[in-house]
Amino acid sequence: MVLLTFLVALVVAVAVRGPGAVVGVVLLAALFVPLERAFALRRQRVLRPGLLTDLTHFLVNTMIVSVLTVVGVVVSAIPLWWLRPLDLEAWLPGAVAVPLAAVLVLVAQYWAHRLTHQVPALWRYHAVHHSIEQMDWVASARLHPVDQAFTQTVTAMPLFLLGYDGIAVAGLTVGVALLALFQHANVRLRFPGLRWVVNTPEWHHWHHAVDPEARDRNFGLPLVDLAFGTAYLPRAARPSGFGTETPVPASGYLRQLAHPLRGGATAVGRSAA
Ligand SMILES: [Zn+2]
Ligand SMILES: [Zn+2]
Repeated sequence: MVLLTFLVALVVAVAVRGPGAVVGVVLLAALFVPLERAFALRRQRVLRPGLLTDLTHFLVNTMIVSVLTVVGVVVSAIPLWWLRPLDLEAWLPGAVAVPLAAVLVLVAQYWAHRLTHQVPALWRYHAVHHSIEQMDWVASARLHPVDQAFTQTVTAMPLFLLGYDGIAVAGLTVGVALLALFQHANVRLRFPGLRWVVNTPEWHHWHHAVDPEARDRNFGLPLVDLAFGTAYLPRAARPSGFGTETPVPASGYLRQLAHPLRGGATAVGRSAA
């Protein structure tokens, strides 16, 4: 069933997005597989359990999430729709508009992610992402589309209301997606000068750690977590394992999608069983 779902996803992805959908995955594999082999944090097989499920997320989620995000932004912006025609961004000098967009996006993304840990109804979807027990670049794609669309909607909303154009928002989404691949990679690389500047694998691995002291930490960019008191980055230690106590099917794309909808994930937040 897992293989059949993957093959259907492959056909749908090529039909909707063209051959580029598959070429992209192959190119990313050519980049990340040797990188993870050379600098592995943990010894694990490339063809690990759950790989086909995560590749299925990789192939089809973008299409579902794009639609859900557009609907999410339009519907939730209705009460503040009057702001957009004011086009406040056009009044700002470029030297202000760009850094302001970055700050708005980073803070919005931080809070969107933090809410998915703190609000039980959101956590049941986000728990799918935290069910990853073997970290690698493919695992970054294991996100429930509802969870991903929620975070993207909240992240895009400030820019949308202030009148920033779609290209700025789309460019940002691509940048965040590429960073997401890298920060989940199974690499032990440390970046001494950048530890508190960007989301390195070391930083985001702690977000997925089972260690109690790392729970509900490192939601966004290190500087934003520092500002809101949720940063955790010990100098020498590494997580003892990855995962969540919330039960989520370990594999099966459709099973993982259906699980929160059925009330399957115990909706009690990250720190409880
Ligand atoms: Zn999380
Ligand atoms: Zn993650």
